Amino acid sequence: MTDIERVHHRTCHLCEAMCGVVLRLRGREVLSVRGDDADPFSRGHVCPKVVGLKDVLDDPDRLREPLRRTAQGWQTVSWESAFDEASERLVALQRRHGKDAVATYYGNPQVHSYGAFLGGIEFARALGSRNRYSATSVDQLPHHFAALAMFGHQFLLPIPDLDRTDFLLIIGGNPVVSNGSLMTAPDVVRRLKALRARGGRLVVIDPRRTETAQLADTHCFIRPGSDALLLLSMLQVIFAEGLARPGRLESMLTGLDAVRTACAPYTPTRVAEATGIDALTIATLARTFAASPTAVCHGRMGASTQEFGALVQWLVQVLNIVTGNFDRAGGAMFTRPAFDLVAMSKSPGQRGSHARRRTRVSSLPEFGGEFPVAALAEEIDTEGEGRIRALVTVAGNPVLSTPNGRRLEAALPQLDFMVSIDFYLNETTRHANLILPPTYGPERDHYDVIFNALAIRNTAKYSAAAFPRTATARHDHEIFSGLCRGLARHDPSRRKRGLAALTERWLTPRRALALGVRFGPHGAGWNPFARGLTLARLADQPHGVDLGPLEPALPGRLLTRDRRIALAPPELLGDLARLETRIDPGTVEPPQTLRLIGRRDPRTNNSWLHNSTRLVKGPRRCTLRMSAADAAARALIDGQSVTVRSRTGAVTVALEVSDELMPGVVSLPHGWGHDRDGMRLRVASAHAGASINDLTDERYIDALCGNAALNGVPVTVTNATDQARM
Ligand code: SF4
Repeated sequence: MTDIERVHHRTCHLCEAMCGVVLRLRGREVLSVRGDDADPFSRGHVCPKVVGLKDVLDDPDRLREPLRRTAQGWQTVSWESAFDEASERLVALQRRHGKDAVATYYGNPQVHSYGAFLGGIEFARALGSRNRYSATSVDQLPHHFAALAMFGHQFLLPIPDLDRTDFLLIIGGNPVVSNGSLMTAPDVVRRLKALRARGGRLVVIDPRRTETAQLADTHCFIRPGSDALLLLSMLQVIFAEGLARPGRLESMLTGLDAVRTACAPYTPTRVAEATGIDALTIATLARTFAASPTAVCHGRMGASTQEFGALVQWLVQVLNIVTGNFDRAGGAMFTRPAFDLVAMSKSPGQRGSHARRRTRVSSLPEFGGEFPVAALAEEIDTEGEGRIRALVTVAGNPVLSTPNGRRLEAALPQLDFMVSIDFYLNETTRHANLILPPTYGPERDHYDVIFNALAIRNTAKYSAAAFPRTATARHDHEIFSGLCRGLARHDPSRRKRGLAALTERWLTPRRALALGVRFGPHGAGWNPFARGLTLARLADQPHGVDLGPLEPALPGRLLTRDRRIALAPPELLGDLARLETRIDPGTVEPPQTLRLIGRRDPRTNNSWLHNSTRLVKGPRRCTLRMSAADAAARALIDGQSVTVRSRTGAVTVALEVSDELMPGVVSLPHGWGHDRDGMRLRVASAHAGASINDLTDERYIDALCGNAALNGVPVTVTNATDQARM
């Protein structure tokens, strides 16, 4: 490495937005990071989190070599010894208790590295366990559920055509802070302002007046968990007033009459009290949406991580479809990414599945080969045949990010063995026997195999590594491959032979990516002289290439058996009976009960950027926000310590009285709670905060798809001093 300064272009991998960045480098040192003005998608935009590219790279707490937990503490071990020990223990446990005795948990950052994503698939195959869990079931599982039921593939997710719509209705999403989630859209603020500048409208439905709501033409508070009722009621108005006009889609639909019939009972008057939105507002919203030249509805985190998330995601698309705002410019559209995961995974098993199996303890349904992570702790701590004995976590911190994290925290020491692929010794990985740290962002090459498929525009960009990894470091896919080799060494029955063995050796994640791009919808194919994308050609375009706006793709893109959109899937229609309890709960909730919702901060990303001083300094952000009316009713004042209590636990935090909360609702951000023992995250520990998932409840889920209901959790809030005296 020289000390000559140079410039490196890449994509920021920290969140979904895929911003282009310019790194000024000297040797292995990142001197500065700024937005790349020449990136055709992000056009120079970056958010405050971008400093995390440098801060995590330089972080002295970041692990760079494997660690083994011993009676004397953590000890550094060689990679080969770590691979050997991990695979030997995993094989031994699987021999003794069956393959399902070893579970895996893949966290959200795994999909921000193509090597981790593709390598993780191979590792899961080699392990052969059906006990698979991931962050999907504390996030976007309802989107996949609706996509499979309606369009025939779990990854066929409709994306709002943000840059061309005339009316954007956002339910439970806050893209100004998230930078667009399941709607990859760098510089959302500019795009929302452009929407309004061209005469369009932005309406936000949320129990909190979010940063996005503050930019909106209209914001309506809604009671947590009642979004499905709002959507049913809007559809009732649209059908009853003859405003349903699916247009060219009509011949591609099944179930239109069934949906019309299902929506009929949900008049605005009937749902007004349950939603907290008056009947006239609901009817006006429905009429305005239907009358707009183009419109699109997008439901996100708050609309997904709740008791009726699958119903909401279904009804969001029903609304888009029956108003003719689907598969057309300005509506909800499918992407056509250069690396097209949907086109590559068309076999029935890859399209998705639901309830082929159920969990041992609570009988929660499998989806897409995974069980809901809400069941993970009980599958470890409940005795009996089939109990999980070992766990492999990958880029995840489920103690802080899954419901009832304290129960999982207590369950992890009951495992016989645990391995974590992670570069931090954090609240989860401190329980591992071995920690295998992969390289970080700029140390590896990058292509977004997932977020290009969720982007509001088709673009593609391949970034080489900013500098080669050191001799003692390993990329995530090298770690997976080391573990796979170890599994085969300790269990010869897993060894591939002949052509399968050769293919396995040859098909590295980089080659799989190159093949995917070459033979994808924008690829050059076999002909070396053909125009079109190859990975090498992409590498010559350091700012990325623009592949144009989203285009109509139906009926060709549909993967249902009859190649039509299933507007009324029976499992979703059947779930409406459960929703009735939201209108008539049967029991009256105690008057002191409040409903807890989450919150996201522009300077953090879940839990793992909290060790950057630059990102956590400043005013305390892990506060409980509450309306002035609710604070007054409890004789609480701004700034004091309060105890928040749910069925699963209690936390003490500072109160922030705020007019952004709907009365009856309180909000706590997620990702905090770094006050556990045995941590090595010195900055994070000094800004510990409290974990919202010490309050969320593993029994509070969307019973249809198994997604955790992290929003709308019943809690009480009291003066912490009173609590201490009790
Ligand atoms: S918005 Fe996301 S991708 Fe863009 S700079 Fe911030 S963290 Fe990186």
